[in-house]
Amino acid sequence: MTPILPGATIGFLGGGQLGRMTAFAARSMGYDIHVLDPDPNCAARAVASKTITASFNDVAAAVELAKGCDVITLEIEQISAAALDAAADHAPVRPGRAPVYIIQDRLRQKNWLRNNSFPVGDFREAHSAQDISDAVTAMGASIAKSCHGGYDGRGQVRIKVASEAENTLELLGGRECIVEQHLDIALELSVLVARRPGGETVVYPASRNHHTHGVLTWAVIPAVLPANVLSEAAALASAIATSLGIVGLLAVEFFYTQNGRLLVNELAPRPHNTYHHSERACGASQFEQLVRAVCDLPFGSTEVIAPSAMINLLGEVWLQSEPPNITHTLEVPATRLHLYGKPSAREGRKMGHLTATGANPEEALQRVLTGYDRLSPATAPALELHLAVPMLRAHTA
Ligand code: ADP
Ligand code: MG
Repeated sequence: MTPILPGATIGFLGGGQLGRMTAFAARSMGYDIHVLDPDPNCAARAVASKTITASFNDVAAAVELAKGCDVITLEIEQISAAALDAAADHAPVRPGRAPVYIIQDRLRQKNWLRNNSFPVGDFREAHSAQDISDAVTAMGASIAKSCHGGYDGRGQVRIKVASEAENTLELLGGRECIVEQHLDIALELSVLVARRPGGETVVYPASRNHHTHGVLTWAVIPAVLPANVLSEAAALASAIATSLGIVGLLAVEFFYTQNGRLLVNELAPRPHNTYHHSERACGASQFEQLVRAVCDLPFGSTEVIAPSAMINLLGEVWLQSEPPNITHTLEVPATRLHLYGKPSAREGRKMGHLTATGANPEEALQRVLTGYDRLSPATAPALELHLAVPMLRAHTA
């Protein structure tokens, strides 16, 4: 296969922060960038020489993007199959329609994982309140998740007893959903895989991740976990990427349960929030690696050169009576501020993140926690950051 060399144009379906950071990496390597996004002020606009404002179902707009580009990639999986197909007539779309189609529906994705013998928690599909009620009767406390469009814990309802089924369906807007058994999670981790068109695959060391109310708070690499858990997670992630035929990136989110089971939570065929630290930590960041994968260039090293951590900055940081104390944060050693240039803050909206390196994962994590506390003392208590460092080594036995 012929590589797509610098000077060529890469098109992005989706211009949020993931597209923006990938576009920065591509720009550094000498590529031009075009973006399609429904928001005319999308985060990647600042890095693109052309921005098409259109919905992800707009076939004509996808064709317009593809006609101007040498390769198309994506930062969001909610893109219609028709738009992906139409774009593919004019430029290679990487990852392609088949894996994106499987991943974009939570139920289809979980069924695919189970049918292919990858370990997942118990789940049921539900089209009615009765289905939800039956699922909770069978599995106990559960989480109902809408099949489409949920992210950062949105589109999810926790349900303890069958009598809450009607209300749950209503909260999900009456849409079909997947009901998952509520698992006793000891900790969460993720593994990122990059795969080239010919099938060459590299796997990043696992990231240890912590969520608060369904949203990622912090992530640390390398994850401090027993070697057998890490090797099993790497093998599963690599096998999933190969079975799906991904070209580009695949992030696999895992649960490690209290009784020692490693289960796949969900998949993402794109850069992932839990690998933002790879920019500091690894030989090649996830963003650069995506560019190399879709352009069919040799991979950069996934090795951890410096233990690193990241912490998300959500809209609430900007919605307090005191503005964020950026100067005080930047004094923390080895800490960097990443802002996505979003014009307005909203509760829960991802506005940026902090990263830090350290001599070991604990030091890197402590630095981003300190940075966060300095930036936004008013929002820090809700995140229970004082529990973070002790959590890191609690499961190494
Ligand atoms: P999202 O697309 O919003 O990331 P996830 O399915 O990954 O959706 O859920 C977000 C978070 O909610 C998970 O990272 C985990 O902390 C929690 N969660 C999700 N599913 C379960 C489950 N079955 N049992 C326990 N916790 C869960
Ligand atoms: Mg998730």
